[in-house]
Amino acid sequence: MKDPSSGFATRAIHHGYDPYAGDGALTPPIHVSSTYAFQTAESGGRRFAGEEEGYIYTRLGNPGTRLVESRIACLEGAEDAVVTGSGMGAVSALLWTLLRPGDELLTDQTLYGCTFSFFHHGLQEFGITVRHLDLHDPEVLRSAIGPNTKGIYFESPANPNMRVVDIAGVSKIAKEAGLWVAVDNTYCSPYLQRPIELGANFTVHSATKYLSGHGDLIAGVVAGDSETMTRVRMFGLKDMTGACLSAFDAHLVLRGLKTLALRMDRHCASAMSLALWLKDRPEVERVYYPGLESDPGHEIMKRQASGFGGMIAMDLKGGHDAGLAFINRLKLFTRAVSLGDCESLVQHPASMTHSTYTPEERLRHGIGDGLIRMSVGLEEVIDLERDLEQAFGRL
Ligand code: PLP
Repeated sequence: MKDPSSGFATRAIHHGYDPYAGDGALTPPIHVSSTYAFQTAESGGRRFAGEEEGYIYTRLGNPGTRLVESRIACLEGAEDAVVTGSGMGAVSALLWTLLRPGDELLTDQTLYGCTFSFFHHGLQEFGITVRHLDLHDPEVLRSAIGPNTKGIYFESPANPNMRVVDIAGVSKIAKEAGLWVAVDNTYCSPYLQRPIELGANFTVHSATKYLSGHGDLIAGVVAGDSETMTRVRMFGLKDMTGACLSAFDAHLVLRGLKTLALRMDRHCASAMSLALWLKDRPEVERVYYPGLESDPGHEIMKRQASGFGGMIAMDLKGGHDAGLAFINRLKLFTRAVSLGDCESLVQHPASMTHSTYTPEERLRHGIGDGLIRMSVGLEEVIDLERDLEQAFGRL
C-alpha cells in the first residue's frame, strides 16, 4: 500500500498488491504450485534456515497466502499474520507454538465449543493447565496469575452468549505480569475491533466467517508480532498442525476482504434493528446483544469497538422446547451453524456448536439450554423481521 494512512476499506481492497507491477492483472493470480524451485542447493538451505527470502513449499506459504496475510495484518494493526486452513487451525497453531507442558493458560467463562474442547481435551491432555476466570473482575485476574501462567485467551464478544471482555483492561494487567494476550476477534472482524491496538498481543479469527463472508470456504488467521508469527508459521503451522490454507481459498478470502466494511455496516445495522424489536416481544425472555443499552457488555463494547456486530442470541420464555419449535418455524433464516454469511442463519448452541460441553459445563459457563443463536445476514431487514414474526405467531 503506497499510502498507509488510507482508510480501512481502501486498505482492504488495495494493501499489498500493485496491479501495475506484474502483467497488469487487476485481480492477483492464484498460485497453485505446491513447491518452489531453489536456484541452488545452498539457496534452499538458506531459505529453510530463515536466512534468505523466498518460498519453499505451500504449507509454509506462497505469494497468494502471503498477500492475504499482509492485508489482514495491515487491517488488524499487526506486524504480520499467518493464514491457516480453518479457524481451529489458527487457534491450535498459535497455542501449540506458545505453550509447553507445565504452563498455565487463563481464559474467560465462555468459548466457542471446539475451542473449549481443544483446551480441555487437547491442551489439558498434554500437560497444560487451563483455568476459566471471570475476566470482568480485575482482582480475580490479578490474584489468579501464578508462576506458571503464560497467557490469557478469550473471545469478545464470546460465542454464543455475547459476553464482552474489556480488552484494554485485561491486556494492561497481563502486560504488568509479563503475560501475552490472545483475542478471538471472529465476531467483530478488524473493521469493528482491533485488539492489538487495545494492547493485546495476538488476534485469531475463523476467516470462514465475516472476513470471507460468503459461506463458501473454511479458513483461519492469526496476527501478531513478526517474530512470533515466524514461529507460528515454522512450527505451529509447518510441524504441529499442517493446517495450511489452499491457494483457491486464499483467493476467496482476499475477495471477501474487499467488501468487509460494506458488509459489516449492514450486519450491524440489521442486527441492531432486530435486537431492539426482539427485546419488546412478549415471547422473549432475554436478548443478548451488546448494542442494547441494557446489555452488560454495552459500555465496554462502545469503548473498544466501532459497532456491535451481526450476532444476536436470545432465550425464549418457553425455554428449550419453545426455542427449538421457533427455530423449526423459521423460513428465511436458514437452520445452520457458522456465521457471518450473506444468508441469515439460526442454530441451537446447546445441541450443536456447544455440544462439546457437558450439560453441567454449559450451565457453569453461561450457555443456557434454550439459547438460540442468530447470525443476521444481508437480506432486507424487514423480511427478516417478518420471518421472526411469523415464527413467533405460530408458537
Ligand atoms: N472461533 C470462533 C469464535 C468461532 O465461531 C469458530 C467457528 O465457528 C472458530 C473459532 C473455529 O473456526 P473454523 O470453523 O473456521 O475452524
